[in-house]
Amino acid sequence: MGTLHVAVVGKGLIGSAAARHLAEAGNEVTLIGPDEPAAFRSHPGVFAAHYDAARITRVLDRDAHWAGWAAASISRYAELESATGLKFHHPLGFMVAAALGSDLIPAMEQAGRAFGVIAQADAAHPFHLMPGTEARLESAPAGFIDPRRMVQAQTLAAANAGARVVRQPVWALREEGALVRCILDDGSEVRTDRVLVCAGAFSAPVGLVPGMPLNAQGRIVLLARVAPELVERWARMPALIRVDPHADLPDIYLLPPVRYADGHHYIKIGTGSIDHPLDDLTSLQEWYRLGGVGSDPERLHASLVALLPELADAEVRTDACAVTMTPSGYPIIDWVAPGRIAVACGGNGKAAKSADELGRLAALWVTESVSTDDFPEVLRAPR
Ligand SMILES: Cc1cc2nc3c(=O)[nH]c(=O)nc-3n(C[C@H](O)[C@H](O)[C@H](O)COP(=O)(O)OP(=O)(O)OC[C@H]3O[C@@H](n4cnc5c(N)ncnc54)[C@H](O)[C@@H]3O)c2cc1C
Repeated sequence: MGTLHVAVVGKGLIGSAAARHLAEAGNEVTLIGPDEPAAFRSHPGVFAAHYDAARITRVLDRDAHWAGWAAASISRYAELESATGLKFHHPLGFMVAAALGSDLIPAMEQAGRAFGVIAQADAAHPFHLMPGTEARLESAPAGFIDPRRMVQAQTLAAANAGARVVRQPVWALREEGALVRCILDDGSEVRTDRVLVCAGAFSAPVGLVPGMPLNAQGRIVLLARVAPELVERWARMPALIRVDPHADLPDIYLLPPVRYADGHHYIKIGTGSIDHPLDDLTSLQEWYRLGGVGSDPERLHASLVALLPELADAEVRTDACAVTMTPSGYPIIDWVAPGRIAVACGGNGKAAKSADELGRLAALWVTESVSTDDFPEVLRAPR
């Protein structure tokens, strides 16, 4: 096979990683996708799941596949940072807390051990965990990544390896003879041998991946401003996930104080326990434009204050985002049109940390550089 020209549609966490791996493997690459909108309220186009400064990164996971994709990705962060000069990794550690007697911690410990991660019992954390809860710590390099900067780093590395970057959305894909045409926002088009769709929650509603079982869910996060003396006191706070069926929100996560663009530090709390189905393009766009709806902020605030009572009077704000779920709980990397159009989507709310490995696997798949037998079956679309 000669040099392939591959268009990667979606300049997000998975797409920018895939573009880098494709370009570094010697393929001709066009990475197509818009930058973050300047004004959400009036934005007529698409949005992304990575418009933020912090995503938890960790190997510990109930599932060995997810643990492995995270371990592989984390092992390449330092190299990407030094190649681009862009720091996105903050290795402050990760803590999991679960109800005593639940099988979560033993399952995470087992998956972690397979990748050399030993979870430690740790009492030296600042959280007021609910009685009847036990906790484990995964130390550095677990912690958090800045997803915006990681996309920047992957895009820069892809460009340095020869990829062309086109900062527009794609509104349609057309197969024509041996080529695929990507129809851009301004009416122009990019013609390539193959297309890899990594457009996150927008992939299905825009119509780029017909037949793929991707389902967008809105999510709300609450950010509480942290006073300077608490920033100092909590300088070594790990990221936290707490899973407790007895709590109002059984599944919550929390990021340590992170400095945002306004110069202040915020602690962010979010949950996977409240779904907001976003079934079409209009509802997805409105979710981002209006900043979400629902009672999530009050419930998140109550959970936050129970964990960190020091934040009871902190100033808060909310952000809206959308995740892409699949029936299997795993991403889908597979053909939409065999040999022409492939998809790499379905982060299930947890793919930021693993995006580099998912992008690498997608690059192998779309160029047929891996045999079907050697490719993780869990990533294939349901048949
Ligand atoms: C609130 C929240 C908290 C999260 N926390 C964590 C966490 O702590 N740890 C973790 O590992 N993961 C976390 N995640 C999940 C993680 O952010 C996603 O799994 C990840 O962003 C998925 O990457 P992606 O490339 O599929 O999608 P995205 O990052 O959304 O990228 C998709 C890209 O496609 C572009 N696009 C869309 N439509 C088009 C189009 N028509 N043409 C061209 N481009 C298009 C978008 O502009 C975007 O750049 C969280 C998600 C949310 C919403």
